[in-house]
Amino acid sequence: MKFTKIKSKNFDIQTNRTIKYIIIHYTGMKNQKLAIKRLQSKVAKVSSHYVISKKGTIFQMVKDENIAWHAGKSRWNKDINLNSKSIGIELVNNGHEKFPKKQIEKLCLLIKYLKNKHKLNKKYVLGHSHIAPDRKIDPGALFPWSFLAKKGLSNLY
Ligand SMILES: [Zn+2]
Repeated sequence: MKFTKIKSKNFDIQTNRTIKYIIIHYTGMKNQKLAIKRLQSKVAKVSSHYVISKKGTIFQMVKDENIAWHAGKSRWNKDINLNSKSIGIELVNNGHEKFPKKQIEKLCLLIKYLKNKHKLNKKYVLGHSHIAPDRKIDPGALFPWSFLAKKGLSNLY
């Protein structure tokens, strides 16, 4: 898969990590420009491996092998602080609007690609809200988990 590259310096270099999770987010910003600016900000210290625009363009900001800073304090079963074990995907969305079909279709293609590439189990395709329930609500109630489940890309409904 080909991606449009956008630079962010917000990551930790790794060469041999094991990826187990895909964590889905929404940007929660007014627009894409502000969202990307934040994912590059030295002050905000956040980033994501991928960002998907509303039109379905996939931007890569951090290489899979490196650790992006998207999950923060988080937990799933016995795993804690999931940045080190995960790939983060941000969907451009202000937090209270529907996700366009094109955007979700590209997300599905990307998850399929990453699942194959890193041999991931669909039960570890989760939202930020699942791994940090006391702090985060993204990707939110409008996110179509059952659509992903139908495609075999998640176990959530
Ligand atoms: Zn998030």
